[in-house]
Amino acid sequence: MPKVKCKLVAWEEVVNWAYQLSQKILESGWHPDIIVAIARGGFVPARLLCDFMDIHELLSIQIVHWGRAAEITTEAHVKYPYQLDLSGKKVLIVDDICDTGDSLIVAKKYVEENWKPGEVKLATLQWISPVAKITPDYYVDEVKDWTWYQYPWTRLEDTANFIEKIVDENKDKKEWTKSELVEKFKEDYGIDVGEPYYTLAFRLLEAYGRIKLQGDKIVVTGRKG
Ligand code: AMP
Repeated sequence: MPKVKCKLVAWEEVVNWAYQLSQKILESGWHPDIIVAIARGGFVPARLLCDFMDIHELLSIQIVHWGRAAEITTEAHVKYPYQLDLSGKKVLIVDDICDTGDSLIVAKKYVEENWKPGEVKLATLQWISPVAKITPDYYVDEVKDWTWYQYPWTRLEDTANFIEKIVDENKDKKEWTKSELVEKFKEDYGIDVGEPYYTLAFRLLEAYGRIKLQGDKIVVTGRKG
């Protein structure tokens, strides 16, 4: 059994989910004038929705709070606040997944209080119903068993973070081979991201001073916890 339940998401699935989401929104009879993508996870779904719904106005707002993959670190907040006038406009805020729901809650509150919209609705591909503090107005999948969705747009970041976690958790192990780490990654997370992601993740961790690459050997040089 993997330590963390993960789903490796393929690009085609994302396109299909965005299509399904667009149909749900259109069938509801509500048509947004403008889409606001929550950065960074909402970018791809928002752009696909624009295409499927023939929407030409796309903005973004960056909400930050998640630290390394699958761990919350700080409170959700708007990273670069700015003022806008969206008087009377129907605004659809889009993110990839509603997990705690904090990003959507903070984004909605900020848009309503600062951008004077006519109406604001929320849409995501996934909604983790047992933990989310809110229900998006539109979503494709209700996820009842908490899962980390390994979307294609965070593949390298997640791989590096998960490998870093493995290194941190195995405190007594100072040296690994590349294949040992890849096997442990597959075992703990139950997914195989394939190359070039493992190689790039090792390089990234080396750049962050966590490991040193010596041929096929990986020497642990720094730990977080
Ligand atoms: P939230 O907890 O709903 O505010 O989630 C914030 C952001 O973190 C989401 O937009 C995703 O980009 C990322 N995220 C949170 N939970 C997950 C998850 N279970 N799988 C993949 N990405 C996630």
